[in-house]
This record gives sequence, C-alpha cells and structure tokens, in this order.
Amino acid sequence: MTRMPVVFAGHGSPMLAIEDNETTGEFRRIGEEIIAKYGRPKAILAISAHWYTDGTFIQSTETPKQIYDMYGFPKELYELSYPADGSPELADEIQKILGDKVQVDNEWGIDHGTWSVLVHMFPDADIPVVQLSIDGTLTSKESFELGEKLSSLREQGVLIFGSGNIVHNLHRIEPGNPGGSTHTREFSDTIVEAVEKRDDAKVIGYEREPNAPYAVPTPEHFLPLLYVLGAAGDDKGRVFNNEHSMGSISMAGFTFGLE
Ligand code: ZN
Repeated sequence: MTRMPVVFAGHGSPMLAIEDNETTGEFRRIGEEIIAKYGRPKAILAISAHWYTDGTFIQSTETPKQIYDMYGFPKELYELSYPADGSPELADEIQKILGDKVQVDNEWGIDHGTWSVLVHMFPDADIPVVQLSIDGTLTSKESFELGEKLSSLREQGVLIFGSGNIVHNLHRIEPGNPGGSTHTREFSDTIVEAVEKRDDAKVIGYEREPNAPYAVPTPEHFLPLLYVLGAAGDDKGRVFNNEHSMGSISMAGFTFGLE
C-alpha cells in the first residue's frame, strides 16, 4: 500500500462547515487529490484542537458520536450530520504503538474541529474516523515526537489529519477586518516559511517568536501542527489556504507528501 500524505488544516469559525467558498473549495480539492493519487484512506486519524486533555486519549468505538461543541451558532450548523464510522482496528494499532501512554475514551466524540473540515474534504463520510486527543501536559518537542511515532500508520493507508490554526486569538478578533493584523501576518509568514523549509526546530520553538503571545495565547490550536509535522517524516510541506481572517486568525494549512 502506498504511503498516505499528512494534512494540517486551519479551521477558524465553525461556520466553515456550512460555507461554500475558496477555503472550503481547497479542502474539497485536497480530498479529491488524495483519493486520486493514493486511493481512499483506510481510516482518518484526526487530531483536533478541541480535544485538549490531560494525557493522551483515543476513540475506539465502532460508532463515534458527532458532538456540537460550540455555542450560539445558527440551527443549520447543529443539524449538519457527518456520520463517519469509527475504527476499533486503528485504535488497537495506536495502543500498540503508544502502549500505556494512551487510554481509551469514547465519551468525547468527533468534534467540530474535525467535522467542519472533513465535511468538505471527504463529504461522503465513508472513511472511518478516530480522534486522538492533544495532551496538554507534553512539551512542544514531545508533541512532535508523538507524531513521529504515529508516522508508520501512513504505510497502512491511514490519513493523519490535524485541525487547528497557527494563529488563533479570539480575544483580538477584529470583526470588520477580513484580513489579518500585522502580528498575525508576521507570525503566520514565519511559521509557513519554516514549515515549507522543514525547519522543524523553528516550528517546535514557536514560543520564542516575538508575536507568539498574540498568535498563540493558548497552545491547543497550534499543537495539531506539531503532531502532523512529526508524522510527516522527511516529506516536503506545501501550504494551502494561506490567508487570514478577522484580524487574529490564520487559516494556513499544509499537506506533506502530497506530490
Ligand atoms: Zn477551533
């Protein structure tokens, strides 16, 4: 079986799930490109910013629930269904790789960080999805190393998919600004360049960047990138949706190994 690429997507507002624009068009195109070049992934291992836990958890159920972990959005968003199956087999594989460093948790479900993107990337929802939580107790380096351990799943046809935002500061949203603030642009450009050059040390050391307190006030939206970067091995990174919104959000995403 060919080795699956790895994807990090910027997700921004949950409204993305019901939008039809250039950003969502790019998700769709990437999903189609993956299937055309590598075949349908056997399963998707999703690492969402919105499952941020103390320790590492994995979903193992055959029928994960979809959760609507956001408040105050239009009814249409809560009616959106992404009925993907789970994959106990993939959960087993991950337990083999991570041993007692991972525990099963089927209380959380497939959250909007995952489904708001996958509904565009793989709209048929016919690929099993397993979510892995982000362990808030790990250092940046350890998050990257955990991703490295998961990399071998790619040879088994698993698509490793991270969803977050490299700049995400909800306290500094500028509702009237369709683009990004100077802080956003500077930080986002630095990270995009480092990822494309595979200067992994720079990405892992993102906290040292001058705009980091603005861009990454809390780490959960940035960390999926570190897992993905670890899983990417030596593959080249290619940016997509390299755009900013509402002042303090970067929508930049990356594919690795999608040649
Ligand atoms: Zn989010």
